[in-house]
Amino acid sequence: MTQKTWQTQLAECITSLPELCEYLNISLLDIEKRLPAAQLFSIKVPRSFADRIQKKNLQDPLLLQVLAKTEELKPTEGFCTDPLQEKNSNPLPGLLHKYQGRVLIMLHGTCAIHCRYCFRRNFPYDDNRPGLAGFKKILNYLQEDASIEEVIFSGGDPWVNSDALLTSLLTQLNTVSHLKRVRFHTRLPVVLPDRITDGLITALKTSHHELVLVIHSNSAQEIDRSVQNALLKLKPHMTLLNQAVLLRGINDTPEQQIQLHKTLFNCGVLPYYLHLLDKTQGVAHFDVPEEEAKNLIKIIQSQLPGYLVPRLAREVPMEKSKTVIGINEA
Ligand code: SF4
Repeated sequence: MTQKTWQTQLAECITSLPELCEYLNISLLDIEKRLPAAQLFSIKVPRSFADRIQKKNLQDPLLLQVLAKTEELKPTEGFCTDPLQEKNSNPLPGLLHKYQGRVLIMLHGTCAIHCRYCFRRNFPYDDNRPGLAGFKKILNYLQEDASIEEVIFSGGDPWVNSDALLTSLLTQLNTVSHLKRVRFHTRLPVVLPDRITDGLITALKTSHHELVLVIHSNSAQEIDRSVQNALLKLKPHMTLLNQAVLLRGINDTPEQQIQLHKTLFNCGVLPYYLHLLDKTQGVAHFDVPEEEAKNLIKIIQSQLPGYLVPRLAREVPMEKSKTVIGINEA
C-alpha cells in the first residue's frame, strides 16, 4: 500500500468527538454534554497520533491531551482568555516582540493537533495572519532592529507550511545580516512524523543561520519508531530541544517524566523547559500546583544526570524572559 503524504494525513485528521470515540473504541456516557466543549475548541487528531493511543483506555495520556471535557466549559477564577497578555507585545500582525534579542513570528493559527490545554486556544489568530505582504513588514521590522538575533517561528505550527513557503521565508531571513539563529517551535515531528521529508530538509538547508528546533512532547508514549526516525533525520541539521507542559494525569509522576527525557535523549533531543500550565480559560483541570511541580523536579534531579532534567518554568506576563522556578525552596 502506498504511504499517504503528510498533506493527505493532515487533511484526514479526526475532527469530531464521535469519530474519535469510534476510532478508539470508546463509549462516553456523557458525549452529548461534551459536544459544546468540542465546538468551543474543535477536535483535531492525526490518525498516526491516534494509533499511539491505547484503545478503550479513557485514562490514556495521549487521549487526555486531545479529548474534549465538560470541565473546559466551567469558568475558573484566575484563568482568562489572554493569560500572557500577548496583545500588548504584538506590534505587527503575526509578530510578537516580548523578549530582548528575539521575536516570535506566527504565520497562521493552524496546528496538526488541537491540544486541549493550549494557551493559544483563545488567541486571536484572525488578527495575526500576516500573509506574504505582512511578512515583508516583519522583515523590515527585523532589518531596523539590530538587537534582534533570533527569529522564532511558532504556533500555529510553522511546519504545516509547504516546503516552498519555508524556503522563501528562510531565504528572506538570510538578508537580515545581524540575525544569528532561526528557531522553530513545532509539534509536527511528534504528532505527524511523516512531515519530516527530504524536501523539508532541503528547505531547511536554505538558511544561512544556526537552526534550533524545539519540539513539544509530553509523554514517552508519543515517541514511537516513526517519531524517532524523524528526529534522527533532523538531528544533523539543527539543535534539538524539547519543551513539555506539566499536565495533571498525563505526565505528573516522576516515572513518566524520567521515561520521557530518557526516550527523547535516545532520539537526540535534550530537555529544555517543563512549563507550568498557562492559565487560559478552559484548562484548569490540567493544572499542577507549583509546590508539587518543584517536588517532582527534585525527584527527577535525584535520578537523572543534570542534562536530562528540564528547567521548570512559568511564563509571567510582561516579564522580560521565562521565569525559571528554583526548586531549593521546595
Ligand atoms: S500551538 Fe502547540 S500546544 Fe497549542 S494546539 Fe498547536 S500544537 Fe498544540
